[in-house]
Amino acid sequence: MRVTILGNNSALPAFGRHPTAQTVTVYGEVLLFDCGEGTQMQMQRYGVKWKNFNHVFISHMHGDHYFGLPGLINSMSLLGRTAPLHLYGPATLQPILDLILQAANTILKYDLHFHPLPEEATMIADTQAFTVTSFPVQHGIECHGFVVEMKTRGRRILPEKCSEYGIAPEDFEPLKQGMDHVLPDGTVVKNEWVTDVGPRPRKYAYCTDTLYTETILPFISGADMIYHESTYLNDDREKAEARFHSTAAQAAAMALKAGAGQLLLGHFSSKYKELDAFREEAAAIFPNVIVSVQGEAYDL
Ligand SMILES: [Zn+2]
Ligand SMILES: [Zn+2]
Repeated sequence: MRVTILGNNSALPAFGRHPTAQTVTVYGEVLLFDCGEGTQMQMQRYGVKWKNFNHVFISHMHGDHYFGLPGLINSMSLLGRTAPLHLYGPATLQPILDLILQAANTILKYDLHFHPLPEEATMIADTQAFTVTSFPVQHGIECHGFVVEMKTRGRRILPEKCSEYGIAPEDFEPLKQGMDHVLPDGTVVKNEWVTDVGPRPRKYAYCTDTLYTETILPFISGADMIYHESTYLNDDREKAEARFHSTAAQAAAMALKAGAGQLLLGHFSSKYKELDAFREEAAAIFPNVIVSVQGEAYDL
């Protein structure tokens, strides 16, 4: 599982940092979380491929989280996309997109399936590779966090070992389930000779934009990595609260209480050019913190 930051600034772009967007790659499938202005250009810049890109999640209706969506949707049609795209967001997103498409007399070449996000915490996507659960956060308007959980894929095939024993790829599935393989001459190939332990399923939590609120702990606890917004530093904690945002120290306190493996900070206010103080304030509470850098990818 890999998180790639396409934009990590708050409402205004500043110092080369774009508004919020990030991808989460699970078994090669790319999920997009939020789509701030310029996201399609950021995807090009950082080599995000549109093959295996089928799910977009929008946390809330502040423009820095979805103003890039009409452009992305339109470009994929112009580039000949035919695979359906699943879009999850607040119910008010759908009529806005419909109006934009209707006003331009645009008929997309692919099916855009819109899934309004339920108020309560709900599993909204369930595929062979992953699940995504949305949950409410506190941001003054309807706003959702998301948890992505990988599914196990059984044992990992060692292709070279399999070929040594003459086991063909069409016989891999029972091996992934842990079964031994019997060759045509009756020889038994032990499972552990040709497979290894599969990857441990990972859990990623995406929490933006939100006040510090412990109501989200049941959903994010035990995550291998938590992305938590940290719009401000401690000096501005009153401003953070008044604007329904969090500080770096609050994000760290949340990661600590959630028993997270790592904390990834983002959604920085445009007032900050240098971000070192975000790491310092957070690390005093939760040492395993990363100040996200646009264009960087983080493996879980
Ligand atoms: Zn925002
Ligand atoms: Zn917001």
